[in-house]
Amino acid sequence: MHEITLVTGLFEIINEQVAAQGIASISKVRLKVGELAAVEPMTLSACFEVVAEGTVAEGAQLEIEEVPLTGRCRDCGDRFRIENFSFICPACQGGDVEMTGGRELYLESLEATMKSR
Ligand SMILES: [Zn+2]
Repeated sequence: MHEITLVTGLFEIINEQVAAQGIASISKVRLKVGELAAVEPMTLSACFEVVAEGTVAEGAQLEIEEVPLTGRCRDCGDRFRIENFSFICPACQGGDVEMTGGRELYLESLEATMKSR
């Protein structure tokens, strides 16, 4: 399953932050997920809950922001939203389109409580 691999990777990053910043508990995790990352948000949330159990992120809310697939035409420089995977420039009908967004998958931010010293 694709999503569990992603969540495991996500927790590696979270654990690094927890260790580096002395985080006591995490209340919210914000993710950016591109359209092309082919992630099912419901599955991702379910995996997250399972992996978070017993960690500082237990019970944390997972917020997923979906990033649409966008492109830029190398011929005329037009930027547009790519729909139905049609890599054709709507301005000049050119086919030399560079993908500019939609492949990302990263941790945007964490809302956390720090350990009191
Ligand atoms: Zn164009």
